[in-house]
Amino acid sequence: MKKLKVAVIHSHVEQSLQAADRLYQLLKQSGHEIDRDNPDIVISIGGDGTLLSAFHLYNHKLDRVRFLGVHTGHLGFYTDWRDYELEELVNSLCNDQEKSVSYPLLDVRIKYRNGKPDKHFLALNESTIKRGSRTMVADVLIKDEMFERFRGDGLSVSTPTGSTAYNKSVGGAVLHPSINAFQLAEIASLNNRVFRTLGSPIVVAQQEWVEIQLQNSTDYLVTIDQFNIQQDEIKSVEYKIAEERIHFASYRHMHFWHRVRDAFIGEV
Ligand code: NAP
Ligand code: MN
Repeated sequence: MKKLKVAVIHSHVEQSLQAADRLYQLLKQSGHEIDRDNPDIVISIGGDGTLLSAFHLYNHKLDRVRFLGVHTGHLGFYTDWRDYELEELVNSLCNDQEKSVSYPLLDVRIKYRNGKPDKHFLALNESTIKRGSRTMVADVLIKDEMFERFRGDGLSVSTPTGSTAYNKSVGGAVLHPSINAFQLAEIASLNNRVFRTLGSPIVVAQQEWVEIQLQNSTDYLVTIDQFNIQQDEIKSVEYKIAEERIHFASYRHMHFWHRVRDAFIGEV
């Protein structure tokens, strides 16, 4: 029987606390070790938001860690297991064959004016750029070539697994997570006889990169998943598919389009 090092990250709603207690018991009974520092498996209990938090806690160990999501509310996109299936889940850990599925991540590089060092992030869902008070004006470059001058509320750049989150709310397409690409979607673009953008989301290929060059201003808001990065003096933000990927322990197959239907359409 396989013994694994497991970390558990849970939300603070009552149902998640109870599920976490139960899971700790089951893990101990079957001889697995709780190891928050160097886990083989990170189990999140809560919602997709909880898994995003778990990802950011372990985003420097992505080559060593597999994630697994238990949901205590509605079925999530990163959470395959229900809280009443914990016994089955721990059995799967005991019979672990180290199988995993992996999904693309977004590599984000923020560049500053006046020589401040770049900042580098990984996003699991998306990164957005918005401007506080006035219309955001930004040049969108693809592979270092000018593509369009954007005016509007902002831009969203999402991964395939993030395509069902904020991206979908701003009219982006839902992408199957086996597609190794990222998506740029507009947030309320200004389009008239003077100002013109493409007006539809674009899907950018793996070996390409997008740079958003911003006008000199101090009121930009950049988000990385659930985090806000309020920064003045941002010159540009560069996006590409990261070299790192997120790995999920795969003990059973989840049909992506079933999940999309369940989450957004319901009974047909
Ligand atoms: P939150 O405000 O609790 O999340 C908003 C909703 O997005 C929750 O229902 C969350 O599910 C869901 N969600 C998260 N990732 C998803 C995914 N990949 N596919 C489908 N739904 C997803 O904040 P949070 O839980 O910390 O999550 C942060 C994310 O929320 C951001 O990355 C952004 O994508 C999303 N968001 C969306 C909007 C919008 O659609 N207008 C606005 C703000 C943020 P759970 O309830 O299972 O956590
Ligand atoms: Mn949430």
